Amino acid sequence: MIADRARFRHAKKLERLAGFRLPEHAFSGTMLETLSSRLDYDALDFAVREQILAFFNDFLRCDCKDSPLCGCPEKKFAKKVIELRENGLDHRQIVAVMLDEYGIEMFPSDVLSFLEESVHVLEAISDVARLQGRSGLAKKTDEHIHLIER
Ligand SMILES: [Zn+2]
Repeated sequence: MIADRARFRHAKKLERLAGFRLPEHAFSGTMLETLSSRLDYDALDFAVREQILAFFNDFLRCDCKDSPLCGCPEKKFAKKVIELRENGLDHRQIVAVMLDEYGIEMFPSDVLSFLEESVHVLEAISDVARLQGRSGLAKKTDEHIHLIER
């Protein structure tokens, strides 16, 4: 999971704000629950606060009963990485966007292997779809493969 590779650059600041130890992994259960609790975000510097709020709005908003531990945040994050790639950004540019928008640090090599794995999964889906005569799904899958691989 690509979300497991995401770390908050300012995890220490969040830790001071929360008043207890936090892992630097952005999508660890403790971090997600802490971000969803009523932290005094106004105490953060403006730039960090904006990043945390963007993270919250883009990945932590869902109506599941067990939110934020429902799996949606990780899926939304993976989707965001794929969307950035499909919009033409390479793995290094994706890392730069994540840092800029959310204060999230990742290794470009992790993003690259995630994109490669995604293509393999899509190829498998496309093959199965074709075998089952679901040409619409196969075509859609092929379009995504093309956009990720170009
Ligand atoms: Zn959810």
